[in-house]
Amino acid sequence: MLRFRVVAIPAAVAQAVRATGRSPQYGHPAHAEIATGSGPCRECLRAFVVGSERRVLFTYDPFEPTDPYPLPGPVFIHEASCERYPENDGLPEYLEGQRVTLNAFGRGRVLRAQERIEPGGVEPALERLLARPEVDYIHVRSTEAGCYGFRVERH
Ligand SMILES: [Zn+2]
Repeated sequence: MLRFRVVAIPAAVAQAVRATGRSPQYGHPAHAEIATGSGPCRECLRAFVVGSERRVLFTYDPFEPTDPYPLPGPVFIHEASCERYPENDGLPEYLEGQRVTLNAFGRGRVLRAQERIEPGGVEPALERLLARPEVDYIHVRSTEAGCYGFRVERH
């Protein structure tokens, strides 16, 4: 049985970006384009089809609502409506072959641990970090690009 859940950005945030063309949290203009990188989309957590799928770039604070201390950065979503990734389906496929950085936080946005993970090693690293009582949640980021991907929480 899975001991963690995968939390993509809220569907309401993605819908607001598509509806207004702006970051719902910051008001900065969003930018739409044909994907030049594989992403992923932070709502459905699928890789973009480079050269054909359209994506929207916007400023997002991934600490809302888990902590009151923001740390905004750029993220992409599909320009067209998509399905939010289910929280209880395990890790998304886009991680295959990816090097990611796991930032394990305690409440108050205190960084308790950081691990750079080679492809294939994400699940055991998550379980190991979540076994530590001082860790409340984990942010998964691309090691190369540095961008926020999704949050992982205990069940
Ligand atoms: Zn999507």
